[in-house]
Amino acid sequence: MPNQLTISELSAKLANREVSAREATQACLDQIARVDGQIKAFISHDAADALAQADAADKALAAGEKKPLLGVPVAVKDVLAVKGQPLNCASKILGNFVSPYDATVVEKLKAAGAIVFGRLNMDEFAMGSSTENSAFGTTRNPWDTSRIPGGSSGGSAAAVAAQECVASLGSDTGGSIRQPAALCGCVGLKPTYGRVSRYGLVAFASSLDQIGPFTKNVRDAATMLGVLSGVDPRDSTSVPQPVPDYTKALTGDVRGLKIGLPKEYMIGGLDAEVKAAVDVAVKKYAELGAEIVEISLPHTDYAVATYYIIATAEASANLARFDGIRYCQRVDGADPIELYCKTRGAGFGPEVKRRIILGTYVLSSGYYDAYYLRAQKVRTLIRNDFLKAFETVDAIVTPTTPTAAFKAGEKSGDPLQMYLSDIFTISCNLGGICGMSLPCGFTANPKLPIGLQLLGKPFGEAMLLRVAHAYEQATSWHQETAPLRRWSSGRERKLD
Ligand code: GLN
Repeated sequence: MPNQLTISELSAKLANREVSAREATQACLDQIARVDGQIKAFISHDAADALAQADAADKALAAGEKKPLLGVPVAVKDVLAVKGQPLNCASKILGNFVSPYDATVVEKLKAAGAIVFGRLNMDEFAMGSSTENSAFGTTRNPWDTSRIPGGSSGGSAAAVAAQECVASLGSDTGGSIRQPAALCGCVGLKPTYGRVSRYGLVAFASSLDQIGPFTKNVRDAATMLGVLSGVDPRDSTSVPQPVPDYTKALTGDVRGLKIGLPKEYMIGGLDAEVKAAVDVAVKKYAELGAEIVEISLPHTDYAVATYYIIATAEASANLARFDGIRYCQRVDGADPIELYCKTRGAGFGPEVKRRIILGTYVLSSGYYDAYYLRAQKVRTLIRNDFLKAFETVDAIVTPTTPTAAFKAGEKSGDPLQMYLSDIFTISCNLGGICGMSLPCGFTANPKLPIGLQLLGKPFGEAMLLRVAHAYEQATSWHQETAPLRRWSSGRERKLD
């Protein structure tokens, strides 16, 4: 079925008219109908609109047009603005808000010919690591539906792993692309800060947020990144770096490259099966001719604390706009203060409230110097650790997550345990560098995906993709698919 293909496979079949864009889109919609009652990756989708876009793509294909994503169904996280579609950030607070404009990445996907459809579930305002903080219910991991898909872009990862779309978009502030990609067995890429425009992404922590793709393999990630990247006058933090053809970097060759292994990442708390899989992956790189170099990132220990000061501080400022006056499902009060309190009290979930309270505290006078300012200084030290390491190595390899997917409910009552599941992904955002996760094995029982994280220099995505692709070519993890079961009236049955 066309929904099971990669972007490059589907594009080839669309180009030689073996498959139409309508068939590809319909196959995704059918898959949603078959499995999404159980996976719950989508908050909503508009089938008629998706098929209308597919028909337009078929006309363009018939006219011989060539575009990198022509006719490819791509779904997006509910934090990105798509004109005419609901935008909720998986929160109750936005009510029935409909976006009046397209995010730059959505414009770019459309210009590249993609069929942009669906609103993918996430943790409310992208705060979380399990998608359990959604006001629209928890997304389930397609490999084991008693487990979470990761977060905050859990819907984006689960939808790709469950073959409900060919690729998707997510956002990553502290790991929200790489962590769910690892837990669902797909490829997730967080570009360098400034590589991709954030215009039309609802801001969580503006100095950390980046948009990036979820795909089934590294080549597709390269194709998506080429479409998404580039400077944008509407985002002053986007950088005017040329956008290379990232697919040209996929040489399959890592001979002579230096790959750094940070000693601080092989810590206690790292699951034995995850560690073993990463060790084997590192050996594979050595077999492929790369030189493995032990490196040190000495400020790693401070990353989680630093992140939860900076991210909450920025979130408390960014989320001030959801006040019941300019946006939001308003709850009236006797005066404006009561209106704000009632609207925000009713609209935000507990994790978002926790973050706003924490962020307001670390910015408050008397605490600003002790927390926020100090965290900014540590952030610079973390970035300098990376820049120093990249003077000697071409890429850094680590586990993406300390464990495979955990059970729904296992950590939701303990925010600190949940925060610690981001321990390997957070530094990359603080350092402003690029990173990705790709499949590197499975746990034995139950069989759950394990992710390998690769980190690259600022604007070094071409090298990152080259290193990832060489490993992918030498292994077959990415070819395994989740054992989806048909979901009907509580009975499960294996799909043929
Ligand atoms: N899990 C992290 C958090 O809750 C990262 C979230 C993200 O990257 N959006 O803040």
